Amino acid sequence: MSSEQERSANAHDFSWGTAMEYGGIGLFSWTPATNDLWWDDRSAQIFAADRAGETPIETWRRRVHPDDKVPSQEAFTNYADGVLPERTYRIVLDDGTVRHLLARTTDVMRDEDGTVTRTSGVTVDVTNAHEAEGRLATMLDSISDGFFLLDRDFRFTFVNRQGHLILGNTSANLLGRSLWEAYPAALGTTFEEAYRRAMDERVSGRFEEFYPEPLNVWVEVRVEPAAEGIVVFFQDVSERRARREEREQLLAAERLSRRKADHARAAAERAKEQLAYQATHDSLTGLVNRGEFARVGQAAIDEIHAAGRAGGTSEWPLTVLFMDVDRFKLINDALGHAVGDALLVKIGERLSRELQHGDVLARQGGDEFVVLLRDVSPDEAQVVAERMCGVVRGTFDVDGHDLTATLSVGIAASGPGASIETLLRDADVALYRAKDLGRDQVAWFDAESHRRLLHRIALESDLHDAVTDGAIEVHYQPSFAAAEHQLRGVEALARWTHPQRGAVSPEVFIPLAEECGLITRLGRQVLELAVRQAAQWILVPDFTVWVNVSGRELTPGYAVSVLDLLAQERVPAHRIGLEVTESVLADENVAVEELRLLHGAGVAVAIDDFGTGYSSLSRLVTLPVSLLKIDKSFVSGIETSSGYATVDVIVRLARTLGVHTVAEGVETFGQLELVREAGVDFASGFLLGRPAPAQAGIPRCY
Ligand code: C2E
Ligand code: MG
Ligand code: MG
Repeated sequence: MSSEQERSANAHDFSWGTAMEYGGIGLFSWTPATNDLWWDDRSAQIFAADRAGETPIETWRRRVHPDDKVPSQEAFTNYADGVLPERTYRIVLDDGTVRHLLARTTDVMRDEDGTVTRTSGVTVDVTNAHEAEGRLATMLDSISDGFFLLDRDFRFTFVNRQGHLILGNTSANLLGRSLWEAYPAALGTTFEEAYRRAMDERVSGRFEEFYPEPLNVWVEVRVEPAAEGIVVFFQDVSERRARREEREQLLAAERLSRRKADHARAAAERAKEQLAYQATHDSLTGLVNRGEFARVGQAAIDEIHAAGRAGGTSEWPLTVLFMDVDRFKLINDALGHAVGDALLVKIGERLSRELQHGDVLARQGGDEFVVLLRDVSPDEAQVVAERMCGVVRGTFDVDGHDLTATLSVGIAASGPGASIETLLRDADVALYRAKDLGRDQVAWFDAESHRRLLHRIALESDLHDAVTDGAIEVHYQPSFAAAEHQLRGVEALARWTHPQRGAVSPEVFIPLAEECGLITRLGRQVLELAVRQAAQWILVPDFTVWVNVSGRELTPGYAVSVLDLLAQERVPAHRIGLEVTESVLADENVAVEELRLLHGAGVAVAIDDFGTGYSSLSRLVTLPVSLLKIDKSFVSGIETSSGYATVDVIVRLARTLGVHTVAEGVETFGQLELVREAGVDFASGFLLGRPAPAQAGIPRCY
């Protein structure tokens, strides 16, 4: 038995308890002087004293394990400091079995000198307990946990091998020592708190704590109350903690970098989404933009083609509505872009509300919106288009302005093989037609209007070249005093000979020039030619050169520019007349103002095509007008009684207003006769003279 085991065994009361349970107690008495040993029957049994005649001391000597003989003798002869010797030793039976005996001296008798004369005590066979304890100690040694026992005074009574490694002390130094003395740093810490609770309150505890110098270990501790005190299991977890900390740091770092990566990814995702949104949406209205509409539309077409190949497509799979806000430019110019933009946003909102699931509304640019409808019949598309017109028609409150707006809509439906571009283009062509029909209208695409559009686009570009190259010419058509047959003036009429198409009618190119903004330049060229020509004809008496002016030319500064030109060409104001249509005078205040200036300066003003527009008679009185030109449609009808009556009324009206009249388009003598009879002042027409270049000369009379 190692001294360590021995001590721990000695220190364990349970060893005695267990021994008492398992076997009887042998009594002995020993006289050192004679080495005479006496024992009782129980002792004889324990020592298997089976030889007759053998004294107990002989039996003891025979039985005791050779290794334990000397130490035991020494132990039992040491009575220093009043010690009552106690020792565990082995005996070997005849069959070789080893038994562990615990002998305790209970009485020591001495003579007057103090010499020990006799001792007595008890012997117990503790083999079973020893083995159990040995196994326990071995087991405790073999477990990887540190393990120690503390008695009720917190003294170490057992420390296993692992415990020594962790506690850095041998049992020799620890056993019997107070924990607080051996490890003072434990005082006032979790260690003390938990151990005392286990000891005093019999409460188990489990904790992890750091023990500082000299151990410098993190220990995981489990403390359990035990009969003799407390049992403490502990483990050096410094490394595990370090690993855990390292792992936690790594994890934290990883989590951080993952979070960072997530953040970066999310930010990139957001940026991508934002970019994608910006790339696909209109920044003003938030609607899908032109590019995205084309993409969605083409995807729908491709899908339809695929379905078509699979044999399941409807007759009108895709319909495009092309919408344009009527006269939006006027609002933009008059009230500014901010108001115009706000109006577009509101229109976009109203249109959005009319969408059905699957419809796509996009802002095509400017004041144009487009809608893609799927699987609707022409009738249904018409209804949607009219509904769109309907929601826009009405007032919009924009920044305190009550704005009215209307919408023109062109519709095209896809046939086989259509692309989104052709569909959009066709709907746009139809839109033009809707505008031509008088705005706030819905029109369907048809091939003819497309052809016309293409033609118009080509012509527009050619006209642009013609104006730039100064290729516009002027022909002059004479007009005569109806009664005296005398020449009284000429009308300057613009002429354009297209290099391929030949002569293009002013009925075609003038409206075109008005639409594409070329009219100001074209009008100015005609005016300059006419004024210069008037200068040539300066000697012709009572003669006026009439020039047609479009309403669009009559912008502020127009009057001044005309008067400047006249002054420059030395042509008196009264030798020039300007012809405008009724509609110009009806609603354009600026135009009237410019004409008033010119009229005041002596320039004659005529209302052209009188009777075809919407003249307000009351307004006519206040207008700066010197001549009414009766439209040739009335002249051509003059031979009927109602036709004559109309001309008659116009002439009477003109007289009341104090202005002259001209009958245009007189083609026959009969017409001329009736015109004269009705009292018209002047007459012109193919009968009297066709428009011709100035070089051709003009007849003085007819
Ligand atoms: P308008 O001012 O009413 O001009 C008269 C038109 O009637 C001219 O057509 C003339 O050639 C035509 N005409 C004259 N007598 C007869 C006739 O007996 N029978 C028939 N069938 N037609 C006759 P044109 O030259 O083709 O001009 C058409 C219109 O174009 C003009 O109508 C005028 O409104 C516009 N226009 C022509 N030149 C200019 C111009 O320089 N500036 C502007 N703004 N408009 C112009
Ligand atoms: Mg005219
Ligand atoms: Mg006319």
